[in-house]
Amino acid sequence: MITPGFPTVFAAVLTTLFGSCFSAMASAAEEVNVYSYRKPELIQPLFDKFTEQSGVRVNVVSAKKGLVERLKQEGTLSPADIIFTVDIGRLSDVKTAGLTQPMSSDVLRANIPSQYRDPEGHWFGLTTRARIVIASRDRVADGEITSYEDLADPKFKGRICTRSGKHVYMVGLIASLIAHNGDAATKGWLAGVKDNLARKPQGNDRAQAKAIAAGECDIAIINTYYLGNMATNPDQLAWFEAVKPIFPNQEGRGAHLNIAGMALTRHAPNRDNAMRLMEFLSTAEAQQIYAQDNHEYPVKDGVVRSAIVNSWGSFKPDTLDLADVAKHRAAASKLVDVVDYDRP
Ligand code: FE
Repeated sequence: MITPGFPTVFAAVLTTLFGSCFSAMASAAEEVNVYSYRKPELIQPLFDKFTEQSGVRVNVVSAKKGLVERLKQEGTLSPADIIFTVDIGRLSDVKTAGLTQPMSSDVLRANIPSQYRDPEGHWFGLTTRARIVIASRDRVADGEITSYEDLADPKFKGRICTRSGKHVYMVGLIASLIAHNGDAATKGWLAGVKDNLARKPQGNDRAQAKAIAAGECDIAIINTYYLGNMATNPDQLAWFEAVKPIFPNQEGRGAHLNIAGMALTRHAPNRDNAMRLMEFLSTAEAQQIYAQDNHEYPVKDGVVRSAIVNSWGSFKPDTLDLADVAKHRAAASKLVDVVDYDRP
């Protein structure tokens, strides 16, 4: 489904050269081009719905990596209008690299709570995911672990599994601990978690649940949607069934949240259509499709969640602005090196 390539770039060149006459012709095509790091099957139903309602065609380039580099190389001639990615880290990196432009929209402001969008309007969250603790149903008693801070308790020595501390999901969580507890306390915490590791950090989030099911460790950290995804995958159901979700810090600041989101590119050739699509994606109708398919939490209030997400009930989320969490990412990444987290 890679349509925005040479022809669109060519149209952009013509538009630049010949001005508004060609500009009118180019916009007659009514399209919008998206570079996406999200799984195609997650977002295609949304784009189909948008096209059905607006008549605007959505061209998608999906990739696991390299899209930001491509955007950089294409510069002013890039056909991309919108970039889709996950994690505050990646969204703020795209902004810092100068690849986005601010967007002011009453619809987006109304639909997306302020802590999930850039104060300057460069990026917007569409769904949230909590980064929570999971524990063995058999080997960890209810109430034995209730906070991220507990993960550093020496009583859990040799019982914790996580992915690499350098992964954006871990860096985001560590950054939120720095924002709340400060640098020194977080360094002590991370060193404590490292001391409790059952094995060298490895694998993705689901691999940690798999390790609990296999008895390699008892406690891990995971993004909530992976629980939903494991529950609906027959090959991974046993991993899901071996663990219980624990939403941390419910008596205090709440569980750490991150987002999947979008940004308008700096040189978006189809800016108006891009804004229409971005606004559509924030509506209840689109939020429901997006959140249900990947078991994420919609950013907009009152939108129906997937059955499995609903089964966990409500929880207290950390309400710290993600833009503030992003400010501590560099310090968080440094701490991972300082305590040599990935090399027990
Ligand atoms: Fe993920």
